[in-house]
Amino acid sequence: MQVPFTNLRMQNQPLQSELLAEMLRVVEESAFAGGPFVEKFEGAFAAYCGTTHAVGVANGTDALWLALQAVGVGAGDEVITVSATFFATAEAISACGATPVFVDIDPITFTMDPRLIEEAITPRTKAILPVHLYGQMADMDPIVHVARRHGLAVVEDASQAHGATYKGRKAGSLGDIGCFSFYPTKNLGALGEAGAIVTSNPIYAHSSRVLRDHGQSAKYHHAVLGWNARMDGLQAAALRLKLNHLDNYNAKRRIHAAHYSARLANHPALAIPIEAPQRQHVYHIYAVRVPNHRDQVGGMLAAEGIGTSTHYPVPCHRQTPYRALHHRPLPITDRLSRECLSLPLYPELTRVQVERVCSALNCVLASTDLALV
Ligand SMILES: *Cc1c(COP(=O)(O)O)cnc(C)c1O
Repeated sequence: MQVPFTNLRMQNQPLQSELLAEMLRVVEESAFAGGPFVEKFEGAFAAYCGTTHAVGVANGTDALWLALQAVGVGAGDEVITVSATFFATAEAISACGATPVFVDIDPITFTMDPRLIEEAITPRTKAILPVHLYGQMADMDPIVHVARRHGLAVVEDASQAHGATYKGRKAGSLGDIGCFSFYPTKNLGALGEAGAIVTSNPIYAHSSRVLRDHGQSAKYHHAVLGWNARMDGLQAAALRLKLNHLDNYNAKRRIHAAHYSARLANHPALAIPIEAPQRQHVYHIYAVRVPNHRDQVGGMLAAEGIGTSTHYPVPCHRQTPYRALHHRPLPITDRLSRECLSLPLYPELTRVQVERVCSALNCVLASTDLALV
């Protein structure tokens, strides 16, 4: 039995006729760039996240870049973030002309360690950018607390955490502004590229809208330098339909994760992900840690027809553009990059497939133990 790492076809196939009907409506109204379908999705997504505004943009990287600009990040500023994330988090900071200042992650949740923020603050610090890695929210209360004490903005990278909660509040609604990607494999995925900014701050919402549309304050009157980062109508229509299914998708992801964790707990050669109290993990990624021979284990699973991945094999601070950057030691981040192994996790998996991954993983770990004594 093959268990691919992702299977998008299985998600969109049951919705195909509804998706096509939505797209036909967009074609009939010729509302392709921005327009009523985007506005409807924005209203629905803001309501879902518990914010007063959502601003649809072209992708998650643009969401981060524009949100940082909206809170005032610019050339020469510093933004405190994590290195254990997809590269776009740091890239967006650099695209503002600012510098990412990496702090290490908590060894249990692998999200920003709030105890390390204060010592990273300098007179140039403008914002804190936590990432809700793998679908679990960062420890937002202490992060927001330290930000308030120092007059810093909090920008959430919620690109992996659509619908995740912290003390009952949804990802994107705890900081000053939240950023989402709707890349097709995300928990809420478009039929192409899309992203969104959410906020309850009307000034930040207005700035984001102006920035995504060439900085126009009125048609052909450009108040500031912006960009073309608009969401397209076809994506908005598809996303609004799929948003109705998000809670169901996340519930299925949580059930599969619970099965994995029950079957893989207490294994001496493996650590399972841990859901922190008062946080609801939405398992964009189910990453175990394999302290020894991670790549070999992944290779052996591939030979068994089981797809795995690593999120991420090279942390941002070790990527070429950031190698010269001075940074503090990041031992937990480095360890995670060596040990993490992502197992297949999507709503459409079957219980039998999850079982198959667990038994294959247990076999592989037993045989690598034997081979390597
Ligand atoms: C996917 C992702 C992004 C980038 O989103 P795009 O839509 O691909 O531009 C940014 N940050 C994180 C953590 C992501 O997972």
